[in-house]
Order: sequence, then C-alpha cells, then structure tokens
Amino acid sequence: MNKWGIPEWLEQEVRQRDKKCVYCGTLMLESPCADGSRKSVATWEHIVNDARIVTRENIARCCASCNSSKGAKKLSLWIKSSYCKQRGVSRDTVANVVKQALKYGA
Ligand SMILES: [Zn+2]
Repeated sequence: MNKWGIPEWLEQEVRQRDKKCVYCGTLMLESPCADGSRKSVATWEHIVNDARIVTRENIARCCASCNSSKGAKKLSLWIKSSYCKQRGVSRDTVANVVKQALKYGA
C-alpha cells in the first residue's frame, strides 16, 4: 500500500491507465517542472471524496491544478465551476472513469 492506502496492484493499474489528467486531459508529470511549477504534477484523486472507496472506479490520477480546484467539492458541482468552464472541462471531455462516476451520481 502507498501512503494513500492504495494497494500496489491498483496503484500500478491506475498509473498505466491515467497518463493524462482524468479531468482536464493534460499530460502529467511525475515531479515538478524545472521552473518549480507543480500544476501538471500527477496526484492521487478519489473521484468520490471518500477515502474508504478504494476501487479502480474511484481512484484516479489528476493534475495538481485540478486536484486543488476540486478539493472536497462534489464532482457534479465542480464540473460546472468557473475553473472547469475556463479550461473547457465538461461531462463530455473528462476521462471515461469520470464519465462513469458522473453517471452513477458522483
Ligand atoms: Zn487536470
């Protein structure tokens, strides 16, 4: 398990799946840019903000920028935020794992 309580097999699976931010689609970095920017650094995300839900449907990787914007907001509300509007992030543009979560009421 890593420090977020994600078992190794799931961590590997999600790392393989989510190379791009599941929300905005930016190609993520494993560590900050040379200029120190952390915006595109990959972070672990619980799509539904419940740390007990550790499944391939709820664990995803998103960029630090989206992660800090979303915070503890409900996905279906955050997707309508000005942050998402500005970046063209919508129900239609997010990764499949996020589309599924929205469909099931996240
Ligand atoms: Zn993002």
